[in-house]
Amino acid sequence: MPAHLEPSNTNKQLFERACRIIPGGVNSPVRAFKSVGGTPFFVSSGKGAYLTDEEGKSYIDYIQSYGAVILGHADDRITAAIEHAARSGSTFGAPTLGEVTLAELIVDKVVGCDMVRLTSSGTEAAMSAIRLARAFTKRDKILKFDGCYHGHSDAVLVGGGSGVASLGIPDSVGIPAGAVANTIVAPYNEVPRIDDSFAAVIVEPVAANMGLVPPVPGFLEGLRRLCSENGVVLIFDEVITGFRVSVGGASEYLGVVPDMWCFGKVIGGGLPIGAFGGRRDIMELLAPVGPVYQAGTLSGNPLATAAGATVLGLLDDSRYQDLAKTAERLASGLKEALSASGLEVQVPRLSSLVGIFFGSDPVINYADAKRSVSIGLYPKFFREMLDLGIALAPGPYEAIFPGLSHSEKELDRTIEAAAESAARITR
Ligand SMILES: *Cc1c(COP(=O)(O)O)cnc(C)c1O
Repeated sequence: MPAHLEPSNTNKQLFERACRIIPGGVNSPVRAFKSVGGTPFFVSSGKGAYLTDEEGKSYIDYIQSYGAVILGHADDRITAAIEHAARSGSTFGAPTLGEVTLAELIVDKVVGCDMVRLTSSGTEAAMSAIRLARAFTKRDKILKFDGCYHGHSDAVLVGGGSGVASLGIPDSVGIPAGAVANTIVAPYNEVPRIDDSFAAVIVEPVAANMGLVPPVPGFLEGLRRLCSENGVVLIFDEVITGFRVSVGGASEYLGVVPDMWCFGKVIGGGLPIGAFGGRRDIMELLAPVGPVYQAGTLSGNPLATAAGATVLGLLDDSRYQDLAKTAERLASGLKEALSASGLEVQVPRLSSLVGIFFGSDPVINYADAKRSVSIGLYPKFFREMLDLGIALAPGPYEAIFPGLSHSEKELDRTIEAAAESAARITR
């Protein structure tokens, strides 16, 4: 039997097996546990707030596929929608009612978003939104913020957060200098100089890929004003915040309306998806109406649109209030539990998004986040929590994603585990 087909069932054996034929053993770098140490667990199944790994150990999960499964794992309603769709065919390369349904739901909920096009990932959504903004303005330069992540396309893989940040790579090898020559990187939460040489400003309205860093008052408002004054397209990358912080996403929650949006994660109900949308006059530059090419064999996939439409149909104001309450309990509980052991920690929260930064200095940008991470406590906390059956993201620059499947019981257990973890760290 070839080595890679040997039966193996511990996480360690599986990881070794994976590393032989998948670079680093994973299909997205943060999953390899490089920045927290140890061996990644291999998930065999998930249900609600819980994961079970291949060794049979169970965890309360706060990764939730980086927020993609807001209802929890294997929600019966989503599973039924996917099953139903799958029975009618999984992809056609032709339009379907499901795409129209999901697009209508997005456009109805997000004020100012007149039209939308579906993709298969958030990366594609951001990449295509930028291309469209460049075509619309007939300019090349874009501005992004340090620590914001907009997927792994060349032009935006500078000053990126998330897995890139965890690995400590400021940008990636393999990207020609020319591909980022028109990308200007500015510090988050400071209104930069913006003139009419820019095509677009792209920003996470709530930064959630350098840990959680909410916008300071005036930041997004300042971007909006300067973009309007200079004819620059303001793009909100709401791949995380869209349909998570409120019915209308961060733009509604924070009261600033961009010209374009990127979506992903929640809108696919756990299946691969992305979307970009915005003002009609911009969106109608897209082929086949206009000259901007953008396409995808699996874009608007029937399974993904069925799952996405089901989840968006279930999320109303009262669900977001539930989510925010859950997140508030988690945030205040974590803060108290860690402080009780004398650890200095900040637990920022915005609506249903939670973050954790060790240290006492406020974190309002990427430099602050890196300073907090350099204290080195996150990997220790992560490992103790994992040992106690709580799965946080395996990187210090990720957010915590409480969802609708986390009930009081899971929150209580999580907060107890945090207190115990803090006690072990400081002992
Ligand atoms: C996850 C994420 C992306 C990339 O989405 P993928 O589906 O992983 O390609 C882009 N922007 C933000 C803000 C994200 O969090």
